[in-house]
Amino acid sequence: MHRRRIVVGNWKMNGRLTSGLTLAQDLVKKAELNRPEGYDLVICPPFTLSWPVSEVVVGTPVHLGAQDCHVDTHGAFTGDVSAAMLVDVGCRYVILGHSERRRDHGETDALVQKKIQAAHQAGLTAVVCVGESRQVRDAGDAASFVSAQVKSIMSARFTPENLVIAYEPIWAIGTGVTPSPDEITDIHETIRGLFGQAGAQVRIVYGGSVTPQSAEGIIRLDEVDGFLVGAASLNSDGFWHIAQFCHGRW
Ligand code: PEP
Repeated sequence: MHRRRIVVGNWKMNGRLTSGLTLAQDLVKKAELNRPEGYDLVICPPFTLSWPVSEVVVGTPVHLGAQDCHVDTHGAFTGDVSAAMLVDVGCRYVILGHSERRRDHGETDALVQKKIQAAHQAGLTAVVCVGESRQVRDAGDAASFVSAQVKSIMSARFTPENLVIAYEPIWAIGTGVTPSPDEITDIHETIRGLFGQAGAQVRIVYGGSVTPQSAEGIIRLDEVDGFLVGAASLNSDGFWHIAQFCHGRW
């Protein structure tokens, strides 16, 4: 089963107006010279840069995403942004359930599920993050923990186009440590199995300390359909290098 690969850059709370625009422009130049084939290339700047970056990327092979959305379409929710608002500024993707939001904003699986529904209603593709802590892995519970997270979002109405699962073990994010190939394959297979027949079409990407050095070995794993990249997405050369491992087919 051929699944279109996807590479998503999560800028997190990084990027001022000038540096963010430069990063987006550099990436667009590269993508226009060597148009992505067989994969989608997405960048997710902070909300303040959604509109200016949109003006740089819309109509180019680089797609725009955001890092969160609210469950409602509008209303008295100070500091929040709705999925429809993201669509207004050209977003096609939204990262949901990132472990930093679960940790810092107390996001639960139930809330993430509602956010996925809101994203789908607005026509966005949800890039949903799941992954276990070091403690859970050391206890031998990684597969069951991640399965529970994925099951909790299963009732959301999804298609292979509007849902991407990102397996991001918390202990691998920003640490320079990556799981072994067997560990990645094992969890990706577990997640795919939860979707039954549709599983063959669901895109499951890996995230956590992906670098130009580590990406090649990881993308060779049949189960891996691309990457969610944090720190390394802040450098256009490095991010582009990672994306090249998804170009065409191996
Ligand atoms: C992330 O937080 O989504 C992530 C993958 O971060 P990093 O690549 O920096 O580990």
